[in-house]
Amino acid sequence: MNVFFLTDLEGIGGITDIDFMDRRGEKYAQARILLSQSIDLAVRTAFDSGADSVYYLDGHGGGGNVIEDMVDPRAQKCNITEWQQLLREGMIDCQIELGSHARAGTVGGFLDHTISSREWFCHKVNGREMSELSMHALICGAYGVPVVACIGDDAACRQAKEYIPDIYVGAVKFAEQRNYATTYGNSDEIVRKTVVEALANYKSVSIYQIDEPITVELTFYRTDFCEKVLSRYGSDVTRTSARTLQRKLKKITKYEDLKF
Ligand SMILES: [Zn+2]
Repeated sequence: MNVFFLTDLEGIGGITDIDFMDRRGEKYAQARILLSQSIDLAVRTAFDSGADSVYYLDGHGGGGNVIEDMVDPRAQKCNITEWQQLLREGMIDCQIELGSHARAGTVGGFLDHTISSREWFCHKVNGREMSELSMHALICGAYGVPVVACIGDDAACRQAKEYIPDIYVGAVKFAEQRNYATTYGNSDEIVRKTVVEALANYKSVSIYQIDEPITVELTFYRTDFCEKVLSRYGSDVTRTSARTLQRKLKKITKYEDLKF
């Protein structure tokens, strides 16, 4: 059993306000430690559950968040290209999202956003609004790999089940307002239990797939964000409204295609 952890920062236990995201701020140093501890716990649990290989991706803001020395050295760190290569080569049996947050526009979602808090308003595939988890699950699904667990805030976990009803979820915190969260006292136990249960049953979790060809639609907050992307793509992409771009694909083969 080869397990991949796709990690993010927002949904990690102990990260309780927006200041933890500021790389120049004091709280960010603490956020890195919490993330690394959480990944280490998940990795060790996966090996204890019988995993042969464990990989992880430092997915937040282009990486640079994980303190690698704090993570069990048996795990291999990957970048986005290596993640997709492993999927393509059939090297991954299942994926777990660790540190997940809800999609843009979710009441009660801690730091809710999709890819870019500043630029992206709404991302749809075949008319359905996507979250980062569902975008990852689509790429995994294209290679027959299930996303078997979501560990993150309460709203992220609830939302994960909209896309994958039988996914295992572990909520480690909840948000009273977008920028403030409260972590559950047993968050480490929740991480451990979710990984154990998901890996014990990984073969039974549905693979997230969507009918092809697919239509990807991205609505930005401002018209100039739209124009910036349009200037890079030309005729492959249609501007369907002032703020929205649309792109049609015969099939999904890479993550970058979903992000324009
Ligand atoms: Zn993030």
